[in-house]
Amino acid sequence: MNWDKMKDEALKYLQDYLKIDTSNPPGNEIKGALFLKGILDKENISTRIYETSPRRGNLIAKIEGNKGEKPLYLLNHIDVVPVDREKWEFEPFGGEIRDGYICGRGTQDMKSMAVVQLMVFILLKRENLSLNRDVYFIASADEEKESILGIVQLIEDIPDVFTPGYVITEGGGGTRGVFTEDDRVIWGIGVGEKKPLFLHLEVKGEAGHGSQPHKNNPNELLVKALNRVLEYKQDEAVISLVEETIRKLGKLPDNKFVNSMTKNTVTVTTLKAGVGEPPMENVIPSLSTASLDCRLLPDINPYEFIENLGKIIDDDRVKIKPVKIPEDVPVSPYDTELFQIIEKAVSKKYPSSVIVAILTPYATDSRYLRNKGFVCYGFTPTVTTKEDLSLMHSDNEKIAVEEFYNGIELLYHIILKFCQKS
Ligand SMILES: [Zn+2]
Repeated sequence: MNWDKMKDEALKYLQDYLKIDTSNPPGNEIKGALFLKGILDKENISTRIYETSPRRGNLIAKIEGNKGEKPLYLLNHIDVVPVDREKWEFEPFGGEIRDGYICGRGTQDMKSMAVVQLMVFILLKRENLSLNRDVYFIASADEEKESILGIVQLIEDIPDVFTPGYVITEGGGGTRGVFTEDDRVIWGIGVGEKKPLFLHLEVKGEAGHGSQPHKNNPNELLVKALNRVLEYKQDEAVISLVEETIRKLGKLPDNKFVNSMTKNTVTVTTLKAGVGEPPMENVIPSLSTASLDCRLLPDINPYEFIENLGKIIDDDRVKIKPVKIPEDVPVSPYDTELFQIIEKAVSKKYPSSVIVAILTPYATDSRYLRNKGFVCYGFTPTVTTKEDLSLMHSDNEKIAVEEFYNGIELLYHIILKFCQKS
């Protein structure tokens, strides 16, 4: 195969894909779905566009294989999170290449991965390989907002496409400087996910004049409650996955990524209070609210977690209201042939790297599929530094072009090994 030619082609596709603004809301994923369809049409791969709602397009493509083995799904999402345009050093939807990086919203989450999967999928077809299983390429909508108009509705509406098999999607990958302070590349393959639990805190108090402080000011009661929550040290999880990771890597560093994978976390995401617009400085309001984004380890019961939070706050005036109680999602087994193939291929390309199974700290489409019996791996086949990883969902998102290329080769070898008929 002419890898150089293929890489040029892939980079061009990625640049063009990044130029399509699929910020969710509103999503407009249909534009992305049609773009992918155009590429697959040229390869004579038939596709199905599934619009779950006007302009909310999903794309499904399949290469037929033998029915003997369970299907493989290369799953990626078309939508991206919105941008705070003023903070960007480059056009977020420009697909610009700068200093060895390809820049733009979606380069990490997850249009680069989508194009990596797309290229591997196309190569399977071009080489006319005989496959031991069906291989799907699925680009979903609405992943950044609960996936309701994406994978959730697809599973519901077209169950014939979704028969339990293997899924490779986002939620893990190679990193440098995240799990260890040295320069080693660590591959964390996502086999499970933390559960998002969103809570509203509400304090009703007594309105009044700002010049006359009193003890029933809802803002002050809320601040004290939040302080108690933030000062409470969440225990390190005693779950086998984390223990295994520590056994392989030694003591893990204290950084936001490691913490998010090994502990329950609580983040204050909204604070709201005040009377008037803009709110008046001299008025004590009668209501003060906050939201907490809590991410729970798989074996934590959300009701018990909320009860414990109530004990930490220790003030009946602070009401805790769950927005939605998350479902339990099983951890995918990682003693599978696919996991071993990934391990082998990674070790071959990155001989001094270490591979560990991890919990993905954020929610992905996998949670809906694991619950239906699919084995899902969060595996983006590229290596990202801690600094670059911080750009995900943030400003100036980018990925090293060389890593994007490496990802195509690595995933290609994995898929070939797993799907080629022996
Ligand atoms: Zn994503």
